Amino acid sequence: MVKNDPTEKAGLNIKMSEEIFRTLIEKSTDAIQLVTPEGKIIYTSESIKNVLGYTPEELEGLGIGPFMHPDDLGYFLENFQTLLKSPGGQINLQYRVKHKDGSWAWVETIGVNHMDTPNIHALVGNFRNITDRKIAEEKLKDNEARLSLALEAGEIGVWDWDIVSNKIKWTDKVYQIHEVERNSFDGDFVSYITRIYPEDKTRVEEAIQLALENKTSYNIEFRIITGTGNIKWVFSSAKVFFDNDKAVRMLGATVDITKRKELEKQKDEFLSIASHELKTPVTTLKAYGQVLQMVFQQKGYTDSVTMLKKMDSQINKLTSLISNLLDATKIQSGKLMMKEEEYDLSELLNEIIDELQLTTPNHTMIKEIGELKKICGDKERIGQVITNLITNAVKFSPQSDKIVIKTEISDESILFSVQDFGVGIANEKQDKIFEQFFRVSSKKEMTFPGLGLGLYISNEIIKRQNGKIWLESAEGKGSTFYFSIPVRQK
Ligand code: ADP
Repeated sequence: MVKNDPTEKAGLNIKMSEEIFRTLIEKSTDAIQLVTPEGKIIYTSESIKNVLGYTPEELEGLGIGPFMHPDDLGYFLENFQTLLKSPGGQINLQYRVKHKDGSWAWVETIGVNHMDTPNIHALVGNFRNITDRKIAEEKLKDNEARLSLALEAGEIGVWDWDIVSNKIKWTDKVYQIHEVERNSFDGDFVSYITRIYPEDKTRVEEAIQLALENKTSYNIEFRIITGTGNIKWVFSSAKVFFDNDKAVRMLGATVDITKRKELEKQKDEFLSIASHELKTPVTTLKAYGQVLQMVFQQKGYTDSVTMLKKMDSQINKLTSLISNLLDATKIQSGKLMMKEEEYDLSELLNEIIDELQLTTPNHTMIKEIGELKKICGDKERIGQVITNLITNAVKFSPQSDKIVIKTEISDESILFSVQDFGVGIANEKQDKIFEQFFRVSSKKEMTFPGLGLGLYISNEIIKRQNGKIWLESAEGKGSTFYFSIPVRQK
């Protein structure tokens, strides 16, 4: 035998490549089928098992029609006829056929007319099972439909800022909100910023900058000037997308909140007028009550004096509620004024604590107050914060009997704290506690009276005194409220 006979090698190669070819076809996720112009199957590759579960023998000689989904049959036949009329032509179709397991499978077929091709003379279909892809597409379509319904119902406009190319795309709703014709928005950052109300521009730019730098979300309310010159309030919320730490895209939503803002303004105006109107009669009532107290005291009517004292303390509560309402409306309209005077904080603290102790028989107020220097600021407003924190500590700790009031002083600042051992505040509610009208509502707390304004006002006062206010609290164990203010001296 001649070693390395080239013909033998070539024969082996041919045999090998035939085998490889067959295996490839068998394992393929595509199946090939040859069909006569009448639609009779004359050949099917082994891989049909992977695609539709059948063996080639089960299909050979059968017509393709009975395998078609009734809803797709018309569409299929129409295209089949077209293909028949164009030798060498090709079609690409998606339709449903019966799987061996009885289910309907989506297939994608490339059909070629090889009627004139020597050795073939048939229509050749190359198809694959795309059921999973179709299901995913359907799901996506379904999600898109839900999203667009939600956007429509919420009247939400969506914008997409490609930061790299500086192109901004708006949905129709954003155009509507801005009252702008489709072609009259340049779609870049500068032309967007020019549509913002001048007074709000810096705030918006800073918020965008902050979101880009700190990788936080962007949520802001501001005014815009629309294409027709109207001023509208909008709420805009967005998320930034990063590529290797570089901000590349900002995707956001915009809602027109002009109506809500108008209603808020009306509410603030109403509260302002109502609290003003309530203040005068209550002050008069208090004055007459005090006169009566004096008269009855002189006449020795002690029972009536006791009742009038109780009435006076209720009038004080009413006055404090009205003042809180008035203060809140002043904060809203930027009219909360701060005085600047020199005062002795230790004296102020002792006065407030001693007075509150008189009306709080069930709690002992433990003072850990150092000697404080005279400082500058608004004495009355700081007193208001201290009173609010102590009365809250008393109010929210009905089952305990002590309140600890401390101060710590350094050259730069004064730290004040009030600790109670009462109901405490759950972690998730703690960041909301300084919001307007916020009150922790659970069945336990339903019995505590209040408007939810005290801490909102206290926060504003401390901010205006360049200080900070915060709390530490554990539900069921109690709370400590702190504020610190810088020491300013004359
Ligand atoms: P108000 O006490 O008038 O409702 P505040 O603004 O002073 O309003 O307080 C807001 C809410 O914060 C209260 O309703 C209460 O739920 C909670 N809170 C305030 N202080 C305390 C405290 N010391 N312990 C527990 N909860 C408190």
